[in-house]
Amino acid sequence: MEKLIGCCGINCAECDARKATIANDDELRKITAEKWSREFNAPGITWEMINCTGCREEGPKFSHCLECGIRNCAMAKGFNTCGDCPDLETCSIVTGILQAVPGALENLKSLN
Ligand code: SF4
Ligand code: SF4
Repeated sequence: MEKLIGCCGINCAECDARKATIANDDELRKITAEKWSREFNAPGITWEMINCTGCREEGPKFSHCLECGIRNCAMAKGFNTCGDCPDLETCSIVTGILQAVPGALENLKSLN
């Protein structure tokens, strides 16, 4: 399976926003916007906002990903991902993702 590991360890290759963007699939954009609005309690997410090629890929980003504190921190420190950071195991910024997303820590470690 293709892997496009984001700064936090999420695999962007499995993300519906990326799939919808690559395929230019408006139906999947609408499904994704409805799902994320519900899951993240964010009614402001519209299907037109679902455009993202991936955290570390060239191209458009979903608005939250541009503002993501994890991504911004890793980029500001010159790391490819949090997997390059000596503070990974103790970091309070990325810990929520590492606990919530199975495989995220392993994804980061697999890059080194
Ligand atoms: S960076 Fe984009 S492709 Fe990756 S998880 Fe976030 S929305 Fe999905
Ligand atoms: S301090 Fe935390 S969020 Fe920042 S690069 Fe290191 S592990 Fe990632």
